[in-house]
Amino acid sequence: MKFRLADGAMLLALGLMASASLPAVQPGGFEFNDAHFHLTNYIQEGTNINDFLRIMGNRTGRVALFGIPLQQLWSYRIDGDRAPKYYLDTDAPLYYYSFTDAFIAMAYRSLTPEQQARFDPMITGFNPTDMYAADQIRRVLQTFPGVFTGIGEFSIHKEFVSAKVAGPKASLLDPALDRLLDFAREVGLVVLIHNDLDRPFAPQSDTSHPLGEAPPPAPVYLDQMKALFKRHPGTTIIWAHMGVGRIVRPIRNDAATLAASLADPQLSDVYFDLSWEEVAKYIVSSPEATRITADLISHYPDRFLFGTDEVAPANQTEYMKVYDDYQPLWKLLSPEASRKVRLTNYERIFDQARRKVRTWEAQHVKRP
Ligand SMILES: [Zn+2]
Repeated sequence: MKFRLADGAMLLALGLMASASLPAVQPGGFEFNDAHFHLTNYIQEGTNINDFLRIMGNRTGRVALFGIPLQQLWSYRIDGDRAPKYYLDTDAPLYYYSFTDAFIAMAYRSLTPEQQARFDPMITGFNPTDMYAADQIRRVLQTFPGVFTGIGEFSIHKEFVSAKVAGPKASLLDPALDRLLDFAREVGLVVLIHNDLDRPFAPQSDTSHPLGEAPPPAPVYLDQMKALFKRHPGTTIIWAHMGVGRIVRPIRNDAATLAASLADPQLSDVYFDLSWEEVAKYIVSSPEATRITADLISHYPDRFLFGTDEVAPANQTEYMKVYDDYQPLWKLLSPEASRKVRLTNYERIFDQARRKVRTWEAQHVKRP
C-alpha cells in the first residue's frame, strides 16, 4: 500500500481544525491518565511505588504500570567494572526477565485498595517468540489474580533493541505472537505492542527508480502489522508510539498512513498511544507537524491515548516532561477531543479490560 504526501495535506484541507482553547481541567480533576509507564528500567531498578504515587500527585489519575521485559546483561568480559545501565551502553545482549511481573505485582499488592485503583498493572516479562509465552501469561494471572489488566509493552521490531535480544529474533509473522494475541482476546487483556513502522534510516525516496521520481517505498512493517491486527479481530491492541522511534521517523506521509488504518473497519479495535519524548519531539517539531497530528486526532478522537513512556522517573518534573512537551498539541485540540485522549479513552478501554480479566480469573483461578 502506498500513500502520497498529498494525502497528508488533504487531511489539512478537510477543515478538521479544532478550536484553540486550552484543555478544560475540572477543578480538582486530573490532567491525564498515563497509558504507558515503566516503573523500572533496563537493569530492573526503579522508583518506589509510594514515591511514584507522590510524583503522580493530583495531576495524574491512573497509570498503566509495568516494568521492562528485558534485562541488560552485565558482561565483565566486555565491560569490566563499567556496569551498563542502558541497552546502548554496551554490546552485551538483553534477555527476557520474567521476574519483572512478580516485582510489579508485589509493588501493587503493597498498596491500599484506593491506591491500587489508580493502577492497571501489565504483564511484560515473556518472550514473544515462544509458543509457551501464552502459558506463562496464564501462570502469572493465576499466581497473582486481581492484579493485571493487560500485557505489554512488549516489542517485536524496535530499533537498536531487537538485534540485541539473546535468542531468536522476534517477528510479526511468528505463530507464537498469534497465540499470545488469541489468549489476550480470550481473557480480555489489553495488548500494548511496540513495533517500529519502518526500519532505521529508511530511504525517504526511491532514487533508483528509472524515471527519477517515484513515491517513497512503503514502510517495511506496515503491511505485516496490519495483517497481524486483522488476524486478531476483537483483541484490544494499542500500537505504542504510533510506530515511530528515536530515529525511525514519522514516515513522509504518516498522517495519511494512520488515517487509512483508522478508517479501516477491520482495525476498529486498534488504538494508538502518543507516548515517548522521542515521539513528542517530532509532533511539536513545527507548527505544521503539530497541526497535522491534531487534525488526525480530531477526526478519530476515540482512538488515541496519551502516555508518558517515562522510565523510573526520579521526580515530578522528569515525569511530567512529555505531557508538558505536548502543550502545543493540547492547545490545538477541542476540549472534548483533548479530554478523550488525556483521560476518558483510557478509562473506557482499561475499565472494560479490568472487568473482563476479573471475570476470566473468577472462572479459571482455583482458590486454595
Ligand atoms: Zn515504553
